[in-house]
Amino acid sequence: MSANFLERLEYRADIGVHLDETRRYILIRPEAIMGLFRRLEPGPRAAALEAFGASIFEQGSDSARAYQEMGGGGEALVRTVEASAPQLGWGIWEMVPGEGRLDLTVRNSPFAVGFGPSDGPVCHAILGMFRAVAGMVLGGEIRAAEVECAATGAPFCRFEAIRIDEAPG
Ligand SMILES: [Zn+2]
Repeated sequence: MSANFLERLEYRADIGVHLDETRRYILIRPEAIMGLFRRLEPGPRAAALEAFGASIFEQGSDSARAYQEMGGGGEALVRTVEASAPQLGWGIWEMVPGEGRLDLTVRNSPFAVGFGPSDGPVCHAILGMFRAVAGMVLGGEIRAAEVECAATGAPFCRFEAIRIDEAPG
């Protein structure tokens, strides 16, 4: 089984389906997805973004487990996810593992671009996937957040995950 997402991705023209093994993918413009959140008032928008992140976490955990089975865990899982994210059109990911923590920078987040200028971070989808990976890499309970977002004018999106027993307080 190839560790390269695009090599695994199979287009079934007869049924109109893209498949990575049993996992189905669709192509959708980021403006279409993020327009959903833009149309909502701030309260419901925050709740919907949270729910989007939680949903990606659930699906992302499944993908991360599959990646781990293909290529291994820990540093290998980090590298597999870094290699797969751009192939999904999710920008350029750079993850730096540390003691009890994992840091991620993302350039060209489609979610930030798709949403446009924002007062707060909007890349809950990336955070959901990152939370899934960080949980597996760090083990145990973690706290993860998007601490800077290109949608708020930052040069790129920055995420951090900290194992809770390492976090102050
Ligand atoms: Zn962002």
